[in-house]
Amino acid sequence: MESKGPIFKEGAVCKRKLSTRSIVVENGPMVVLWVLTGTLIFNIGWFYTLLFAIYIPFSVLWFWRFICTYCANYDTGCCPSGYGKAAAKLFLFRDEKKFKQAFNMNMPMVLPYWILPLLAGGYIIYMTYPSVPIWLWMVFIAAMVDGFVILPYLSRQVACSDCLVRDDCPWAAEGGKSKTHGF
Ligand code: SF4
Repeated sequence: MESKGPIFKEGAVCKRKLSTRSIVVENGPMVVLWVLTGTLIFNIGWFYTLLFAIYIPFSVLWFWRFICTYCANYDTGCCPSGYGKAAAKLFLFRDEKKFKQAFNMNMPMVLPYWILPLLAGGYIIYMTYPSVPIWLWMVFIAAMVDGFVILPYLSRQVACSDCLVRDDCPWAAEGGKSKTHGF
């Protein structure tokens, strides 16, 4: 699908390279969180796991369409996760001036990534207490550490650290303004 692509602001220099390693580092912890969450949900019922399995690709496509298409990293190697390139294969570029607005409006679509393991794990632990199996504690704690410690750390300290849209991104902005880009 043809697109005109983003126009970088003057002085912006992308120093990042899309690679197999960057794709694994960027997406690995999220895939692990999905698997751990699916494991927790499966213990509530297979039907809920099926719904979760449908929700994941739907939410990723939503993210590509409604956030990545507004991003200056769209269709460039500056998006280390590969989402920017993937979005360009399916959806036309929109308006990068509306990136912040698009991000704020559509982030709720992926908030269940963090809410569901918390709810599902809490529910099963509550239902099985005090005979909570050790494996359940391990899966739940692993999901919490992955989702609330590892993922935010990697996002802010690695992926967002020299991102071209860092200063416009509400997620990255919490970690402070970029020192590497002049826009
Ligand atoms: S930096 Fe984020 S919003 Fe931009 S293309 Fe990559 S994944 Fe999408």
